[in-house]
Amino acid sequence: MNRHAGLGLALSLFAILVVPTLWADGETAPARDPKQPVDAAYTAKIQKYTTAPYFTSPLVNYLPASKTVPTPEAVLGDVAGAPGILPYAEDVYKYMRLLEKASPRVKVFSIGTTEEGREMIAVAVSSAENLKNLEENRARLAKLADPRTIKLDDAEADRIVAQAVPVYYITGTIHSPETGAPTALMELAYRLAVDESPYIREIRDGMITLITPVVEVDGRDRMVDLYKWHLAHPKDFYPPLIYWGKYVAHDNNRDAMGVTLKLTENVLNAYIGWKAQVLHDLHESVPYLYDNTVGDGPYNAWVDPILADEWQMIGARNVADMTKFGMPGVFTHGDFDTWSPGYLMFIAAMHNGISRLYETFGNGGADTQERTVDPEDYARTWYRQNPPLPKTLWSQRDNNNYEQTGILTSLHFFNENKRLFLKNFYLKSKRSVLKPSAEGPAAYVLPADDPRLSLQAELLRVLRKQAVEISRAKSAFTVSLPVRKEPKPKKKQDSKEAAEKEAAPAPTTRAFPAGSYVIRMDQPYARIADALLDHQYWSPDDPQKTPYDDTGWTFGELFGVLVTRVTDLKVLDVSMERVTEIHAPGGVKGEGAILAINNNAEPALATLRYKMKDAGMEAAEEPFESGGKKFNRGSFVIRNASRADLDRAAADLGLQVVALAAAPSVKTHPVRAARVAFVHTWLSTQTEGWWRLALDNLGIPYDYISTQAIAKIGDLNARYDVILFPPVGFASSPTAIINGISMAWGNPLPWKNTPETPNLVGKNDSTDDMRPGLGWDGLAKLQAFVQKGGVLLTATDTSRFATEVGLTTGVSTSSSQKLKIVGSVLGARLVDGASPIAYGYDEKLSVYCDNGPIFSLSSIAGARGRRRLGPESHSRPTGRGSLGDPDFTVGRSGVEAPEEPSWEAWEAPPVTDEQLRNGYRVISPANRPRVIFRYADNKELLISGLVEGGDEIAQHPAVVDVPSGNGHVVLFSINPVYRGETHGTYSLVLNTILNFDSLNASRKLAEK
Ligand SMILES: [Zn+2]
Repeated sequence: MNRHAGLGLALSLFAILVVPTLWADGETAPARDPKQPVDAAYTAKIQKYTTAPYFTSPLVNYLPASKTVPTPEAVLGDVAGAPGILPYAEDVYKYMRLLEKASPRVKVFSIGTTEEGREMIAVAVSSAENLKNLEENRARLAKLADPRTIKLDDAEADRIVAQAVPVYYITGTIHSPETGAPTALMELAYRLAVDESPYIREIRDGMITLITPVVEVDGRDRMVDLYKWHLAHPKDFYPPLIYWGKYVAHDNNRDAMGVTLKLTENVLNAYIGWKAQVLHDLHESVPYLYDNTVGDGPYNAWVDPILADEWQMIGARNVADMTKFGMPGVFTHGDFDTWSPGYLMFIAAMHNGISRLYETFGNGGADTQERTVDPEDYARTWYRQNPPLPKTLWSQRDNNNYEQTGILTSLHFFNENKRLFLKNFYLKSKRSVLKPSAEGPAAYVLPADDPRLSLQAELLRVLRKQAVEISRAKSAFTVSLPVRKEPKPKKKQDSKEAAEKEAAPAPTTRAFPAGSYVIRMDQPYARIADALLDHQYWSPDDPQKTPYDDTGWTFGELFGVLVTRVTDLKVLDVSMERVTEIHAPGGVKGEGAILAINNNAEPALATLRYKMKDAGMEAAEEPFESGGKKFNRGSFVIRNASRADLDRAAADLGLQVVALAAAPSVKTHPVRAARVAFVHTWLSTQTEGWWRLALDNLGIPYDYISTQAIAKIGDLNARYDVILFPPVGFASSPTAIINGISMAWGNPLPWKNTPETPNLVGKNDSTDDMRPGLGWDGLAKLQAFVQKGGVLLTATDTSRFATEVGLTTGVSTSSSQKLKIVGSVLGARLVDGASPIAYGYDEKLSVYCDNGPIFSLSSIAGARGRRRLGPESHSRPTGRGSLGDPDFTVGRSGVEAPEEPSWEAWEAPPVTDEQLRNGYRVISPANRPRVIFRYADNKELLISGLVEGGDEIAQHPAVVDVPSGNGHVVLFSINPVYRGETHGTYSLVLNTILNFDSLNASRKLAEK
């Protein structure tokens, strides 16, 4: 189909006397320019470090020589992919800047810094002419990216497509133990700048290759440190990379929804700013090159079908080209589903480009090693006719060969078809703009009367980062609501319900006040807003049985704010203005000495508490009314604070403070800036990192300590009021938390700064040996801390730890049998709104859950909670009459049996009189667990994502406050702080912190 374009290029190249070899299909074949000398020494080393002749290709088995441009050897001291050499980001940048200096075909751009202040760069490689005309070209691409600027004129788009130079953006080593990309990309940049072969020239002249060689810069430097340590201690085991970036490890590639990490924000801005067409992210896991661009279903429902076709085109061709080179183990179908938009590459998929991802084969360092792969990886399958070898010697150079060959064939194919891809880029953007009338919705509305305006602002700021346009209605407006088709009642007993529904017709319109935010869907980046704000449904019958990542993420639900999906096109005619700065209104209003803030579970309240440490703040234990305003339970009552200071802080945080003439008459207790310890293990810091990030953003101070440190601290209570022990994630179990990694063999695994490892610690934690865990002495310390009045807060796997090692009484956890909840949004219900943990929350709450654990309660110490599943078990014995009749005994008058006690799934079975006979095991009422939230009924459990076998967890406790001695253990089955997506449940944690010494407030005790 590109014969024509190919010939055109061939002719223009002929003019400068280089005749490309043509493949049978008319495309330029990969072949060296015979006139250009080869760097013989470099080429010899490439061949030396390549472990088998079929692990390379004609594209990378040589290096063209240049008199002026330095090769990677200038910085590395050897060739790219050489054994034993892993450059720091700084060295990679140094080389890229040497290239820039030596060649007009290379330009280096700074794209921001990381959390630890390291630079991120993007390197543009193209012809000198293209780089000279970057701004003109960007202006052309911008018109395709926003078709409104050319009035959706297809003919004009065609004219631009004919002139524009596309941008193909490649990103490397976001996952720090996947180490090969930086050297591959250094050499790739050299080839693109220097090689005069027609194949490479076409790429250089036809498009701009943009390269971020290191995405996770902080993690890269740590990984290189570890590798150097390994080289210095070749016989020892080396410490695993426990920290990557400052906050999260592998999850740094799951941040493209919340955009909470600098690396995501920087790549997103570079992608949007360059108006790039492709974002291609390099990873290493499976042999030898899995181009998971095609992957497996289900595909994300919000991607344009044009993109799905592009994935197929590029993926199929990529495999075909590399198969022709005779390289084994290249495939594009596999087990990666393309449902979640959280991956870095998905920035492109959700912004009208093309997302791509490679998994190549890496050794986690630069050692050449004998590698044995799993049978499933070397099996020949329908999509992998030339599979990897079961066993092979594998080098970093092999990996670099695969990475570069894959990218070069992709670039070439993309260039051959660039007019098609540029037109598609325009069409996808245009179809986004036409979304309201094409498929809807017309807009999402976030109402101005949302009780949680600071959380609303937080959500809007995420959309701003995603380059979504946000508008604000200048006046009140009303939209009509879609008529929802109710399923017809199937059974007779439903008819009463159906009749009730008929009697009360659903509202047909919805009114919004002036100032409401409108996310119009007639904009180029409507797709990402739609994907984030809509609901997700993953069918339990989906043929994909192992979802690759989360199945649900609806942002309005997880942020706890009101979001209405509006299909009525009239919403677009509402008078509105674009806003670029999002700020919730805040500050002090009214006259009076007492200042009050309504509690709507906004995390900003905790920020305020810590910001104004010396102000006297109290929480109202009951709702109250004052000055015509209603205040929820937990509302702040502030005395003795400087009004000016409070006004400034509240304005900054988007909190509305009301001055009252008199203090409310309800009972209050102090709200305190608790002293917080934040505990991590040396097993994994993956999941707790999101908690640290949230606390840092909120300005909540804490001491970051490891499980190892606990035993060494003399008196925990003297130092801390609250100990947070967030989820461990990978490799966690109660015994692993206590025992750590076995010390019966091996050597110490130090995590500390040394001359060989200057970057390891950063601002995180350090240890001489990562292996020891909490230890039994540490566990005893934790127990004593709680007994003496401290509060320990745990979630998911650390809750399982707390219940199983006996830090709590009356709560048991069970594993699911058939439950399947894979990162879903679930419904939860308030059980005890008087608990300070629930302050500011409504009856209904949306929570993030990943398969529990399932909590059950008992009032008998040491007993496991009874779970009731299926039909009621107690039927009557065989006897007279029928099922509902009493039995009888001959010769005795009938005796009425006492009524069987009943209880709900979130409650402990009621204590019986039998149990109370010498009831030393009966937990006293004040010591029994207090359920704050439970999971919703099975029918209402699923909000977004996948729920299968939900009756196992439905109605069971989701958040439980367990009194223990003078203190408390607060257990979460949900993960309330996750990936910057769950701001709506942050306050469950923050309320626990602020009210740590009043958690028993308004508690009602059982009578027996
Ligand atoms: Zn990876």
